[in-house]
Amino acid sequence: MNTNSAGAPLNLVLASPRGFCAGVDRAITIVEKALEMYGAPIYVQHEIVHNKHVVQRLRNEGAVFVENIDEIPEGSHAIFSAHGVSPEVRKRAEKRKLQVLDATCPLVTKVHREAQRYAQKEHTIILIGHHNHVEVKGTVGEAPEHIFVVGTVEEVSDLKIPDEKKVGYITQTTLSLDDTAEIITALKERFPEIKGPAKDDICYATQNRQNAVKALSKEVDLVLVVGAQNSSNSVRLLEVAETTGVKARRIESAAELDPEWLEEVRNVGITAGASAPEDIVQGIVAEISKMSSSSSVRDLEIVQEDVTFALPTVLRNA
Ligand code: SF4
Repeated sequence: MNTNSAGAPLNLVLASPRGFCAGVDRAITIVEKALEMYGAPIYVQHEIVHNKHVVQRLRNEGAVFVENIDEIPEGSHAIFSAHGVSPEVRKRAEKRKLQVLDATCPLVTKVHREAQRYAQKEHTIILIGHHNHVEVKGTVGEAPEHIFVVGTVEEVSDLKIPDEKKVGYITQTTLSLDDTAEIITALKERFPEIKGPAKDDICYATQNRQNAVKALSKEVDLVLVVGAQNSSNSVRLLEVAETTGVKARRIESAAELDPEWLEEVRNVGITAGASAPEDIVQGIVAEISKMSSSSSVRDLEIVQEDVTFALPTVLRNA
């Protein structure tokens, strides 16, 4: 196997916080506890979190992942993923008499509530987010006739709003802080009376991981972002690192490591999206350590996280 710079020492710097957030932790625990309580199969609508390692492990334990709620046999135990679902999906679940455990992240639920409140006041809602992301689809479902999705500043100028005095904006929870700030500025210029959330919708975990990767990028020659391609917050971490000018790669596991990336590199930074498990990060650290004659590993902590979300009552009481 190749080594970096003829076997020169490598410094590995791990961003902190990284990896699992409270919403992902809660969602995975809900599936595990449901399997313990009710036994397999437990049906899960959509990947519980966007990480194939996590999904495969739960599949091996008896979870069955489906995209369409109608695929779930009537009366079964079903779990909604951390990304949330539309009211239409909830209705269909009820019709099929599914016994639902809701793993929607409470921070996504907060955005759904904001959408409901604007819709009740007959406001047009601008949802800043990615058109096809599953979280965005769920939020749009709260008020499909009232919501426009915008993903870029350019899309703001194309908006046709019936009453420009009655507009509010909300955002997907896992966007880049900088991109969102630009779109919000454009919205405020175009609709001076637009209302926004009292507290930012970008979740604490997304903010912390983006701040940590920015700090990390200043100290290293290469940033590795551990996370899946369909993990919105992992892709944003890659973009945030790249905007600082550092070389950055997204990888899902140690198997994807290319020794050529480490040539001429002395300091490697590693971070992980909110749905990427720590054992994958540690597998990558171990693999890189093997590629170098000597290496050191340290954490770069920018903030301590102590957020936890309560489990659904039925699981808490079990
Ligand atoms: S990334 Fe944020 S919104 Fe998404 S599950 Fe984690 S805490 Fe919740």
